[in-house]
Amino acid sequence: MNVYDSARMADVLARLGYTPVDEAAGADMVILNTCHIREKAAQKVYAELGRLRRLQEDKKKTGGRMILAVAGCVAQAEGEELLRRAPFVDLLFGPQTYHRLPRMVAMVGQTARAVVDTDFPAERKFDRLPETAAAAAAAFLTVQEGCDKFCTFCVVPYTRGVEESRPVDQIVAEAEQLLAQGAREITLLGQNVNAYHGDGWSLARLIRRLAKLPGLARLRYTTSHPSDMDDGLIAAHGEVEVLMPYLHLPVQTGSDRVLKAMNRQHTADDYRRLVERLRATRSDLALSSDFIVGFPGETAADFAATMALVDEIGFASAFSFKYSPRPGTPAASGLDPVREAEKAERLTVLQARLEAQRREFANTCVGRVLPVLLEKPGRHAGQLLGRSPYLQPVHIEAATARIGDEVSARIAAAGPNSLAGELAVAEADA
Ligand code: SF4
Repeated sequence: MNVYDSARMADVLARLGYTPVDEAAGADMVILNTCHIREKAAQKVYAELGRLRRLQEDKKKTGGRMILAVAGCVAQAEGEELLRRAPFVDLLFGPQTYHRLPRMVAMVGQTARAVVDTDFPAERKFDRLPETAAAAAAAFLTVQEGCDKFCTFCVVPYTRGVEESRPVDQIVAEAEQLLAQGAREITLLGQNVNAYHGDGWSLARLIRRLAKLPGLARLRYTTSHPSDMDDGLIAAHGEVEVLMPYLHLPVQTGSDRVLKAMNRQHTADDYRRLVERLRATRSDLALSSDFIVGFPGETAADFAATMALVDEIGFASAFSFKYSPRPGTPAASGLDPVREAEKAERLTVLQARLEAQRREFANTCVGRVLPVLLEKPGRHAGQLLGRSPYLQPVHIEAATARIGDEVSARIAAAGPNSLAGELAVAEADA
């Protein structure tokens, strides 16, 4: 979602004459769009600010000015503390106010203090944003923001606010724009995307509406909560052709005790049954998930339950982390923390298993012909980078003109980070 938000900030700033550059050095403005979901991500902000301060000073020496801005959830959550530690920051704003950037930028330099806007404004951000200026072959589209689930480890309800769904017409209009600008794939975004309820529509109904748009080849959505996977959404996986057979469905842990302490509102068996139903609907559905190890109070038996669930389900990919307390969340009260060494050990064990499953899944793709959406130039000359239906990066030799095409590719090999493919014979002749 930060990638999406950054692109929308660029749209807003384009009205003021700003254009994106690849390097921070020499820029007139640098915006760090930050994530507060884990301690490590938040710490990185301070390290990066130290580096940017030097660039800001270099620019000053040449008589110029670099506006240094911190946006996103770290700005929202740490506001004053951040300004105390980094008083050279000019502008600080949260995820809900970036439509006000022109006003904020105009105020920079008018007072000795930084300009701060971390409100949850009454006016809706999405009603005030300009049209998107450009779209990649695989584009993002935010359909809902915020969350009412209040998992005890998570900052999202505090930094992004309560759950809000965008109106259907606005989403359809943005999707049409993206397609007109060359997008072939759209990923619907939301912190709890399947809680979508804009204009009383479910996510499934929205998906079926968007699937009718001419030119749309692929549709995805992320991130989902298991408790919000309703019958309609499960059915959509079997019936909507453009909906990709890949679903990110965070489970966090396989232990019911820990799930309860996390306030996840489902059990491990609920998750198992849900996956069963999804796979019955769409047999080639690949799953990815999120895991937290070392949640306060997690015992060896709890961790074993997570490993058992991983073994039973089998994930095509996954994100796994050590629990880190997030200030202001209920779980951060520090009761019964797991020792750091124990957390690290469990994470190593879990990641080894998840990596083996990822490899195993990738190997099942070798020899198959898969549709691949060619998205951008690869690292080597003559090579393009695309994505399989299962979101795996695929390198293929093909002409740049084919960016944006969905091609048939024979998968020749599976590497640690990507697949190697070649245009299937009919495609190569095309
Ligand atoms: S459902 Fe997701 S976004 Fe919402 S509180 Fe839980 S972890 Fe955070």
